[in-house]
Formats: sequence, structure tokens, C-alpha cells
Amino acid sequence: MGQDSFSKKRCYFFDRGRCVYGDSCSFNHSLLKDCCGDAASDINKYHKKNLCSLFMVPGLECPFTSSFCWNAHGLEELRRSPLRLPPLDGIQRGTLLRCMGAHRLSEADASEVWQSPSDWEVIDRVKVGDTVVADGVPVLADGYMMVPVQPAGAVELRYFSCVATDEKGRARDLPITDSHIHLDEMLRTRRYGFAWYAKTMRCGYLNCARRRCLYAHEGEKLRPVPALRPQDLAELGAELAKLPGSRIVGIVQSCCTVEAIEDTLQLVKWGREMMDGRIFATFGIHPNDFDVHSPEVQMRLEAALDLCGVQGVGWGECGLDFNKRADELDSAPQMRQQMQQVFIQQIQVALKRRIPLVVHSRDAEEEVFHILDEHVPRDHYIQLHSFMGSPSMLLSFLAQRPNTYVSVPGAVTWAWSSQDGGLRELAKVLPVDRLLLETDGPYMAPAPYRGQESHPGHVPWVAHALAVAKGLRTLDVIEAASRNFCRFFGLQEEREEKGKESFNNQK
Ligand SMILES: [Zn+2]
Ligand SMILES: [Zn+2]
Ligand SMILES: [Zn+2]
Ligand SMILES: [Zn+2]
Repeated sequence: MGQDSFSKKRCYFFDRGRCVYGDSCSFNHSLLKDCCGDAASDINKYHKKNLCSLFMVPGLECPFTSSFCWNAHGLEELRRSPLRLPPLDGIQRGTLLRCMGAHRLSEADASEVWQSPSDWEVIDRVKVGDTVVADGVPVLADGYMMVPVQPAGAVELRYFSCVATDEKGRARDLPITDSHIHLDEMLRTRRYGFAWYAKTMRCGYLNCARRRCLYAHEGEKLRPVPALRPQDLAELGAELAKLPGSRIVGIVQSCCTVEAIEDTLQLVKWGREMMDGRIFATFGIHPNDFDVHSPEVQMRLEAALDLCGVQGVGWGECGLDFNKRADELDSAPQMRQQMQQVFIQQIQVALKRRIPLVVHSRDAEEEVFHILDEHVPRDHYIQLHSFMGSPSMLLSFLAQRPNTYVSVPGAVTWAWSSQDGGLRELAKVLPVDRLLLETDGPYMAPAPYRGQESHPGHVPWVAHALAVAKGLRTLDVIEAASRNFCRFFGLQEEREEKGKESFNNQK
């Protein structure tokens, strides 16, 4: 962007963690000091943004030294983006140009205001703390998300940040809901990096030739899965509390394997002890693992649901996924039928128990709707989690089913331009009284945090993308999602509004 002088060129070696010249290097090292951590250069974007599992997991060894390893060797090296809020009032109204998180910008640091999103002439500089007034919706230009501002010009969206305040300048109430997350995996990722599972499972390939395969081969000992600690959840709670006005209404843990049962029960228990019982759980077998489903597995999951008491709020995620194991499914067509049978059996559990059904569908939307139409009464509560089918199909389904809700994932923030269609198009037509917000953490982190593990503190960005698509205020979407959440999972709304009452009920 802008003038590209010799001294402004990115340092190739620095971006790979290997520049030996330090401050005397004549190339640009600047992006690591970037205010909000969203480095503009793709090369640099993921550098030291995640923990190196090989370094963090006891018993594994990273073959690289810290300056050669792409991932962080320890928390000191980690460049985790500081938690911040999107503009909650809708950026049409104007916004503060201010960094919310810990950063290394000095007062003298300034960002540039460009003439227009399509014309990269610098017209001015604004300092941290200056206010600029937005003059339109964000525009994608040359891969940068630009916001037109007054006086005439544009700045990058990532430089916007604001705190929603009421008339008296106090932080506004920010109800946090995350309708679908794998909290156990998320907390492990946060502590050990994305490959925390290294060598805890056997490799599926005969004679696997991958040099640093993360799975265990013949003769290799299986490592135990690193245990969750209560402080992992406490730290997440502290992180969420950093969002001004935040109040956890509910986080729904999706327990979709037998292996996750113990952790899920633990998390629900810790949630009662330190989050006022706001961690809820649903149980089921994920369609990718349909072949482990059996009457015995079913019994264990149901028993776990019972143990959760009021925090056990639904059945799933279950459904159909024709994407992940596509090759297998193509070579053995009867597997598709088996997957459908397992889905139908799990639908029966939700119906028998009169609890919400959490549906996962991927590349199988038509088949999923067909099965739901055939087996689920119209007024039953259904959560379409991470739905990515066509808008028209969805709308006709919703029209017939008053208690079906669509849980929108972080992916809605990814494709900014409307010609990308997909989730943005869906977001546009989705009725506000039928939407829920989810992270599906640790996966699908929303745009400002992409490549890192996603967690409930990122949910406001999902709401923001929805708000931009629908022309609404972000806070209105967040509040609607909170009301819908309570209605869907059967939590009383008065309780939500008072916010203070205990939800620490054991049964
Ligand atoms: Zn490493
Ligand atoms: Zn292998
Ligand atoms: Zn899913
Ligand atoms: Zn999931």
C-alpha cells in the first residue's frame, strides 16, 4: 500500500524469524510492532500467533530453535491478538480510533488516512486516540478492509475500536452467548497449541511416511491427553471479563465423542463453581464418527446428559457430513445410509426427552432437511449449527418451523465482499429472531483472530459481520442472540435480564 520505498520493503528473513541484523537491518521489520496485532502482510500474519505444540507439550521436542520455529516457544513469544470489541453502534455513526489492548505503540505512532479505498494516496495521519467519523460501510480494496471516513479519506477497519457507552458514559451491558463450542479442545489449544493431541492417537495410515507425523506409529507409545486444569477455565473467564460490560449468558459445550464426556462433566462442574452455572452441554455423536455409535455409547452419553442436570440442554451435535470422509463415502455408498441411520436414532433421543436437537450438516443440507421433515415434528426445537446451505432452502424450512434457529459461525466474517456470496448472503436474509451466535471454537476464528483458537470473547465479531450484512447495529444483534439463546435452551428470560440471580442449581 502507498509509497513503496526501499526502506519500506518487508524483510524476508525477519518475516521468517531469521534476520540477524536486528535494528540495523535496512528492510522493514515494523509489522511485529503493529498496534492491534493484525499484521497486514500475509507472510507475517501467523508468525508466532500460536503456541508450538512440539515445544509446549511435555515429552515432545521441537526440532527448531525459537528463532527458526514459526510458532511461539512459550507464552513470552506468543503474539496473541489482544481481545477487543468491534464497533457496537454500527460504524456509520462514527468510531474511536483507539487501541484497546496491550500494545507497543507510542503516542507518536500514527496510522495513515488514505484518500479513498481505491486510491492509495496518503492524505493525513491520525494518532492513537484520535476520533474519526465513519462515512459509509467498509469496502474491500486490494485485499484490505477499508472504512471511508470524514473528512474525505479512508482507514483500515482494523484500526477501529470502540466501547459502547450509555448516556452517562458507562460501559453498556454486553451479553455473551456462544451456542456451540468445543470448550475442552479450545482450552487445550490455548495452553498447548493446535497440535496438543500429538501422539495421543494411533496413525490411520499403514506405513505412514510423514516425517513428523502427529499420530503415533507402531512401536511408539501413546501419550496421555494433557489434563484440563480449573485455572484454564478461570483464565478464559478473566479474558472474557476484559470486554467492557460483558456478562456471560451461556456457553454451550458440544460433547460429540465418548472421549470428551469426562472433560465435559468437569467443565460443567467448574462452570457452576466459577461462572454461575453458565456453562451448558449437549451430548451426541458427531456425524464424522457415526461408525462408533452403538447402544452402549448412546447409554453413556445419555447418562452424562443426566448428570449435567439443568446444564444439560440438548442432544447433538449429530447430523450428516459428506465432506470430511468424502473418499470413504464414495467408495462405500452404504456408509451414507449408516450415517443417516445413526442420525435418525439420535433424533429419537431428542424427541423422547423433549430437548433441543443440535444438527451438524456439511455438504448434505438437502438430505438433512429431508430427514428432519420426515422424523421431527414441526414445533420441535432445532439448532442448525454452522449451517452453510442455500438461503432459499433455509427460509422455506424456517417458515414451517417456528422453533428452528440458525447458529452462525465465525466464518461469516471471512468473506467480506458480497460477490463471495455464501454465508454473507445467508446472513442478510436470516430473520433476527431466529439467529444464534457461535464460535465452534477452537475452530473458525472470526476475521480479526483468524489462524488463532477462537473462544466466546470473539462472538461480538460474528455479530458485527451479521450486523454489517443486515444494516443493523452490532449491539442489537448481540442482544437479539441473547434473547434467542434463552428462549431456545429454555432458560427463563427474567433470569437473563436480572443477570444477577444465581444459575448454580445442581439439578
Ligand atoms: Zn517449535
Ligand atoms: Zn503417520
Ligand atoms: Zn459441527
Ligand atoms: Zn462443533
